Amino acid sequence: MMQVIKADVLGFCFGVRRAVTMIETELEKNGPLCTLGAIVHNTHVVESLSEKGGRLVRDLDEVLPAEAVAITAHGAGEEVYAAIRERELRLIDTTCPIVRRAQQTAANLVKEGFFVIVYGEAEHPEVKGILSWTAGRGIATQTPEVEIPDGTNGVAVIAQTTKNPQQFAQFAERATREFARRVPEIRIVNTTCPETGRRYQAGSELAKKVDVILVVGSRSSANTRKLAETCSATGVSTHHIESSDEIEEDWFTGCSRCGVTAGASTPDKVIEDVVRRLNEEKGE
Ligand code: SF4
Repeated sequence: MMQVIKADVLGFCFGVRRAVTMIETELEKNGPLCTLGAIVHNTHVVESLSEKGGRLVRDLDEVLPAEAVAITAHGAGEEVYAAIRERELRLIDTTCPIVRRAQQTAANLVKEGFFVIVYGEAEHPEVKGILSWTAGRGIATQTPEVEIPDGTNGVAVIAQTTKNPQQFAQFAERATREFARRVPEIRIVNTTCPETGRRYQAGSELAKKVDVILVVGSRSSANTRKLAETCSATGVSTHHIESSDEIEEDWFTGCSRCGVTAGASTPDKVIEDVVRRLNEEKGE
């Protein structure tokens, strides 16, 4: 009989829960609105909000003059706020306070004269937003071997909030070696989010105790993908699924313990569906 064990910390983080609650409250009170991008990287959340009147738009040009617009938990660049002000749209800002802190850190470092290196995925909306606060004095990269402008006096290294803190520490060490002879000052500021770190740690601890682990969450969710990588790195058989429909029976052949974990953007309902389906698999 296979035992199903959930990670100690999994699913919605406080920033995502806060953003979803803000949007739901706004929809209830003031009716339909637009969200500038997916409010979180999870199709179930996006669909559920869309049913309640939350229209997803990719560009401010798609927002009608009388509509309210919501900035997502990932935050946005300075130019987006300026454009919203210029169009006199009503703003619902759900930027996670931890992302906001990373943006402010980037802006302050630039004010202090640093060139900012953001350890992260250049195309991720959060990273694009953080970079925008550097006013052109920053770059996003996954490798520290990057060109910096001539005459740079200091390099600061920060991170996309969802980066694994250990990987950030390794990156920062490599960056320090890379720039030690090129600039007089190097500053490392850990802007990773403790919420995601707690999920990585709980996932990796659970992975060591089970024969197979399911990581639940959207494939477009950076933190869910990293959670799956973290579990897989322990050597356990790992499957990243978006919902219970993707579960395959033969993953559990000869397994006595199955672990379940989920990214910070995965709603409780989707996790519970997976657990229910696994319990049915084992014949409970
Ligand atoms: S993972 Fe962290 S930074 Fe991202 S939304 Fe959640 S609390 Fe905020």
